[in-house]
Amino acid sequence: MAVLPIQITGNSVLHSPASEVTVFDSRLETLVADMFETMEAAPGVGLAAPQVGVPLRLFVFNWLDDDETVWRGVAINPTLWISPPPAGEANEDDESEGCLSVPGERFPLRRAELAILSAIDLEQKPFEIKAEGWLARIFQHEFDHLNGVLYVDRLAHLPAKAAAKAIRKSGWGEPGLSWTPGVDDLDA
Ligand code: ZN
Repeated sequence: MAVLPIQITGNSVLHSPASEVTVFDSRLETLVADMFETMEAAPGVGLAAPQVGVPLRLFVFNWLDDDETVWRGVAINPTLWISPPPAGEANEDDESEGCLSVPGERFPLRRAELAILSAIDLEQKPFEIKAEGWLARIFQHEFDHLNGVLYVDRLAHLPAKAAAKAIRKSGWGEPGLSWTPGVDDLDA
């Protein structure tokens, strides 16, 4: 297993739709194992394949909810149903989101409260998870990655301006930038 470099915003793989997974082989198993290791090293609660430079529709997640339930797995070729996002401004205290491809930054974003994830696992076995709250947010964030959308692309006017400024200031938004958890001293 290996910790993989994480692509930083500006790389086209992060801004393009990914392709369905069609080959289930040992390379895919290795990719998923490496993605888990990379997510844990970051640390993060989710990681999508385009973030490690692989344009395929899969993501891993690892979340401990308030009931101490562990939600951990890989979602391959997922679909996502979401409830209508509530109206109004996102609250900075409890709706601020981050992304390993925009490391060290957090901005408030309104998300749907409920989500139903349908996907297959490495054994191609279908599963479904009804999520609410932060787990629903994680699924929306990771699912967006598979469509070439970053959470900073969805921000309201003011946080979007702040995010654009932070990205410019860090010298991101250009192709070819990445960071490796445990190697690069970046606080994600
Ligand atoms: Zn992300």
